[in-house]
Amino acid sequence: MNPMRDLLLAGSESRWLREQATRYGFVRRAVSRFMPGESVDEALGAARTLGFGAVLTRLGENVTTTQEAEAVKQHYLDVLDRVAREKLDVEISVKLTQLGLDLSREACEKHLQALIEKARSSNNWVWVDIESTAYTDVTLDIYRAARARFPNTGLCIQAYLYRTEKDLDSLIALGSGVRLVKGAYKEPPDKAFPKKTDVDENYYRLAQRLLSLEARAKGVRAIFGTHDPVLLRRIEQFGRESKLAPKDLEFQLLYGIARPEQQRLSGMGYRFRVLISYGAAWFPWYMRRLAERPANVLFVAKSLFAG
Ligand SMILES: Cc1cc2nc3c(=O)[nH]c(=O)nc-3n(C[C@H](O)[C@H](O)[C@H](O)COP(=O)(O)OP(=O)(O)OC[C@H]3O[C@@H](n4cnc5c(N)ncnc54)[C@H](O)[C@@H]3O)c2cc1C
Repeated sequence: MNPMRDLLLAGSESRWLREQATRYGFVRRAVSRFMPGESVDEALGAARTLGFGAVLTRLGENVTTTQEAEAVKQHYLDVLDRVAREKLDVEISVKLTQLGLDLSREACEKHLQALIEKARSSNNWVWVDIESTAYTDVTLDIYRAARARFPNTGLCIQAYLYRTEKDLDSLIALGSGVRLVKGAYKEPPDKAFPKKTDVDENYYRLAQRLLSLEARAKGVRAIFGTHDPVLLRRIEQFGRESKLAPKDLEFQLLYGIARPEQQRLSGMGYRFRVLISYGAAWFPWYMRRLAERPANVLFVAKSLFAG
């Protein structure tokens, strides 16, 4: 694995570093490249100007009080209300540890189901993020229980994990929504492919499964969440070989990353959304973005001199 990536991922868990970094304006300026602002108003404002659909996610994970978890649920309920009222093409994506999974599984499940139920009342959709492997089993369990009751929900899965192939089979059997990503956490080699080329190959294999006749017959909503230009083109090519129309393929990319690719994908007629993050708790998330592309550290350095 890349030592810089390891260092940045270790930094993402450092409380000391978080307290230092978030005090500096130049770090905030660098973060603004990936985040339109900390408030939901700024996120919705960006969503309105994009010209394509969006998915909103409020940053924050591992809340430590039941009040915080309750407040996160209420926040997303309000967002869903607002999206319906303003007729925006905006879905939401949530982390279970932000809905209090570390405190009470039962309460977390109730919060998630309340969000999905609310979204359903306006034909909207709730995505469940996938976090580190400490939470994979429980996230799948909670997600499956929710999916058994509501159709308007999907789960993110990580191509860097060996186990994901099996997990994907079970999700396809449910006709679930699936967002396929490479994976953003620091995981040991007995759980995740250590080599990037193996992760990429596994991503492509899983993408083929997601576009298979069987998955389509089950009604799977398949999302490809990657900025990797090689993988994107391989998936598009596979779609053409499988005689799929562009609207049968759906991509989601992160706000501010690979913008020309975003314009190209939406212009090709694929279904397309941008995932917009917002909120005050951006430090660990931002460190993961730096780890994905250590050259981004240069942007932080440049922002130091940008005034
Ligand atoms: C919609 C969406 C939802 C996600 N949800 C989750 C989740 O729930 N759980 C989870 O673990 N991970 C999630 N991720 C993050 C994902 O796991 C990867 O860490 C991230 O997408 C980078 O991997 P990549 O597929 O773009 O490929 P990489 O191989 O990392 O990157 C391919 C190319 O994309 C460009 N690129 C990638 N990242 C950056 C960057 N930060 N800055 C600039 N250029 C970049 C570069 O040109 C790079 O060469 C999500 C990603 C997306 C797009």
